[in-house]
Parts: sequence; structure tokens; C-alpha cells
Amino acid sequence: MLRASLAIVLFLATTLAFPVAAAETGVAFTFANGTLSDDEAIVRSGIAYAREFFAREFGVTVEAPIAVDVRGTQQYDVIAYTAPGAVFVATGAMGWHYAPPLRKLQTVIHEYIHLLHWQADPAATMPLWLAEGSAEYLAWYAIDQLGLLDLEVARDFWIGSLQANPALDGVPLSAFEQPTIDGSASLYEIGALAVSYLVERAGIAALFDYFALTDLNRADAFAAAFGVPIGGFYAEFEAFRAGAVPAGYDVSRLQFPWYPSAEVAEVSNAVAANRVAQGELALVQASTGPGAVCTLTFYAPDGALAGTQSMRANGDGSIFWLWPIAETTPAGIALTEITCGVNTLTAAFEVG
Ligand SMILES: [Zn+2]
Repeated sequence: MLRASLAIVLFLATTLAFPVAAAETGVAFTFANGTLSDDEAIVRSGIAYAREFFAREFGVTVEAPIAVDVRGTQQYDVIAYTAPGAVFVATGAMGWHYAPPLRKLQTVIHEYIHLLHWQADPAATMPLWLAEGSAEYLAWYAIDQLGLLDLEVARDFWIGSLQANPALDGVPLSAFEQPTIDGSASLYEIGALAVSYLVERAGIAALFDYFALTDLNRADAFAAAFGVPIGGFYAEFEAFRAGAVPAGYDVSRLQFPWYPSAEVAEVSNAVAANRVAQGELALVQASTGPGAVCTLTFYAPDGALAGTQSMRANGDGSIFWLWPIAETTPAGIALTEITCGVNTLTAAFEVG
């Protein structure tokens, strides 16, 4: 019985994708041949969630059409970057291929923040640490609000990554203003930590004030938005950084498992958001083995099979599906079935 139902799921997975999100209006996606369906789902839902979330929370949106170009590889093995109005993702890059899905989702949201940067500041005048740090911080903030990782855990990850990189010992934040600095991974962590400190001082909305203050020079914009001259902030931050220690959260959700795991696994703790309106994103989470590959099958309230999506688990075995509920979906109780090969769990939620 299990084998038969698995075979059906595998067959359908090749024929029935999740629908396109309403928030994707104005976004043109191009996926290279061979793009994995889980990567495609993450890129689509990451852009859709970022558009919806930052418009709702902060009243900001990318006004012009967005082109999202998902490729196999790109120069220097960069996993993603932006140009004005365009996002590029390299799913064949090592850093993407081995990243937990949560970090892939976070990367896509990070790139969306850069689109907001380009829109406000086409000359790209802001310090590199602040551009990357705000993209990183705001993406983790959005993920915290989604319920997939607490911001405190991300903060532990930044501090731990900084402390694990002796090349940054004694290198002040001010040295990361110029784009000529080696863009090592820790640029993102020191930038995110500095931005989290700025947010503690001035509030998160101050970041968007700062992005938009392009009629001032960047030093004046910094002082106006955050209420402290940038030189004074640098001095404060170095003192804060010297005393920053991880609070002891488990950061394994963000670490790189060797996967996909070939082993079938059990699934437990399947939960769905309580209610999702048509056109919004549904979220289902569960627990399984690190790197396990699982499949979610989605049945609309009228019982119609509405989509299947395979997904990989993060480094701690947590797994999620984030996908749009089509406008045409009837209201009522929708059902999802999740299997990682051993057992099948269901999670229900209300549509409408
Ligand atoms: Zn970036």
C-alpha cells in the first residue's frame, strides 16, 4: 500500500507543479534546463514572500518589473547576485547546492532587499557592510516573522561565524565600507551583526529611511536615519563586538548537511498554518532526518489533487514547504500528506 502510494506521488511530481503566486505579477522567471523542482519552488516562494512581507510590514516594494534568472553556474561560484531589476541565482554553485533549504530561501529574500537598494540608490553609494548586512538582517527578520527561525538563532550564527574566522580579528567594521575588500563570507555576518546593533538603537524602520535618503551624502543620511554619526557608531560597535558571545542556541538548522540523504526517513510533527486566504502563501513544517528528501501532496478543500512538491530537510531535520494557494481554490479545509519514505503524516488548514 505504501509502495503503491509512493509510486503515484513520484509520477505526479513530474506532472503537477504548485501554482504561480499572485505576488509574482510583475516577475519574470527564467529557469535553466535541469533546475531541480525544489530549487524552483524556493526561488518562486522566496520572491513572492519577500514582496508580500516587505510591502505589508514596511510599505516598500520593488516598483519596476523584476527578472529572476536561475542558472546552473556563474563566474567565481557566486550563488546569487542582483543588478537593478534583476536577480541571478546559480543553483549549480557549490554554496547553493549544499545549502539547507532555509538558507536558500533566505538568500532569495536577501537578493530582493538588494532590489530595494538598487531602486532607492541606483549609484550604489552605501557602505558595503551596510548593504550586505541589511540584506542579511532583513532576510532573517522576514524568516523569523514567517516562523522558520528565531532571529536570536541567526544572531548566534553571525557571532559564531565571526569568531570562527581569525582573518577578521582586529579588522574593524569601517574597513568594510569599500567594495574592494575581499568579500569573504564573514562580511555578511559582521554586517548583519552591525545592522542588528543599529536596529537595537534606532528601530528596524530606520533602515528603510536610510535607504531612501539619497539626497544626502551617505554620512549625513546615516546620522539622520540612525541618530548617531557613523564614526561614533563604529567606535560603539567595536566595543559591542568585543563583548558579543553566542547565547547558546542550536544553529544546526543553518549548517550544511551532506545531502540529499539517500535514506528513507520518518516524518513527525507536521503542522500547517491555521488559515490561508486564496492568493496567499501556505506554510507546512515537519521534522525528519537531516537532509532527508520528503514529498508533500496538497489536496484542495474539494478533494482535488492540487500539487506535489519534493523538498530536502535542513541540517537539523526540520523541513518546510511554502507555496501559493491559487485564487481559484475553493474555501474549506485543505489537506496535505507528507512522506519521507517510512510513514505518511497529514496536516490540514483552512483556505479562505
Ligand atoms: Zn548581497
